[in-house]
Amino acid sequence: MGRVSTDTAAMAPASTTIDWPDLPATQQPSWEDPAELAEVLSVLATYPPLVFAGECDALRDRMAQVAAGRAFTLQGGDCAETLADVTGPNIRDRLKTILQMAVVLTYGAGMPIVKVGRMAGQFAKPRSSDVETRDGVTLPSYRGDMVNGFEFTPEARRHDPGRLLRAYHASASTLNLVRGFTGGGLADLRSVHSWNKGFIQGPAQARYEQMAAHIDRAVRFLEASGVADSEEMRRVEFYSAHEALVLDYERPMVRRDHRTGQLYDTSGHFVWVGERTRDLDGAHLDFVSRVRNPIGVKLGPGADRDTVLRIMDKVDPHREPGRLTFVTRMGASTIRDKLPALLTSLGDEAGRVSWVCDPMHGNTFTSPSGHKTRSFEDVVEEVRGFFAAHAEAGTHPGGIHVELTGNDVTECVGGVDPVDLDDLGLRYQTLCDPRLNHQQSLELAFVVAEMLEE
Ligand code: PEP
Ligand code: MN
Repeated sequence: MGRVSTDTAAMAPASTTIDWPDLPATQQPSWEDPAELAEVLSVLATYPPLVFAGECDALRDRMAQVAAGRAFTLQGGDCAETLADVTGPNIRDRLKTILQMAVVLTYGAGMPIVKVGRMAGQFAKPRSSDVETRDGVTLPSYRGDMVNGFEFTPEARRHDPGRLLRAYHASASTLNLVRGFTGGGLADLRSVHSWNKGFIQGPAQARYEQMAAHIDRAVRFLEASGVADSEEMRRVEFYSAHEALVLDYERPMVRRDHRTGQLYDTSGHFVWVGERTRDLDGAHLDFVSRVRNPIGVKLGPGADRDTVLRIMDKVDPHREPGRLTFVTRMGASTIRDKLPALLTSLGDEAGRVSWVCDPMHGNTFTSPSGHKTRSFEDVVEEVRGFFAAHAEAGTHPGGIHVELTGNDVTECVGGVDPVDLDDLGLRYQTLCDPRLNHQQSLELAFVVAEMLEE
């Protein structure tokens, strides 16, 4: 994370002093015990902030560079983090995967890469149905470990407010490790080779090794010439992001920055509003419009000019550089049709925000074996359509937002060393959407780096 002021004393709990308007909020838990909930909310409001105002400001500055076409952002991580997967090796490998991808992109694009993890807060999910039926038994749907458990029993599926505190603690320990890794030795640019160690080796890893050898030589050259700042090479800026979905988690995490009197959602640096909760008159857009963090809003193929402008007016009325990012998730077969028209219809306004491609959520299908999956080729095709749309409209393709893991899972099909439809059952570990595995993630980075070079 950034080397900015992290003055904890300057962040006062604010939730007790904020009168949140009573607006419709979709996709919210139905907690059973109001007394238990009230207790949890007051505890959360006294906990330390997970991120600091100055760091959020620094990320806003970085995103302003993205909006201006001078930087590219890589956002990646689980669809849904789980409490059980908050382990040292899992966090390290996800982080190493993102760092590897970022190095590939930096090398290819010759442009700073703003690194953001879907991490340390991504514990809640919107669902298409409130309930799930299996073998004639109907129970509440799984809504992420912040709300209920995945196990298909009435006890696990109960919406338990105590899970908000567990999600907070899991996020705190995740961030603690991330801060340790990125501020210390692991992220040292002189260790690019070591980021490739410990993973199953395949074609993408071999290609990475070759590139790492070039980088090593360049780094040694710069050091020998005395022009490289060793300290700068030791650290990396890394930011956290999640969907601001469960308002009973986000609202108590809001703190007032005593330097400026302004509000920040201290649960993560970058928070976004999903495709299903971005109602113009709803509580989610209202919530993000009140905090100073850099904000994302997802846009599906149905988003039109009027909706987009109204979102901009609500969340970013002053068109502040770096404030608002639209994360488009149109689908590989739709993006070339929808996105150029949308961007063109916005005229100059399209240049006042960042545009990021989520090539995952418009490309999900169910395999014959019943697994929710995506094809690597569709993911690449959507990113290609995204670059083409921006080239056509004269706007900047600002980054990618992907669901990935450092682990060798079999959840998305395709890639150079392909996962076949028949392989999906081998290591299908996600509790929600399918993620790119380490190999597919690296391969995607190489493909996108080539698009950035063109
Ligand atoms: C997600 O990012 O996991 C998600 C649910 O996305 P969307 O809101 O775009 O459907
Ligand atoms: Mn998802």
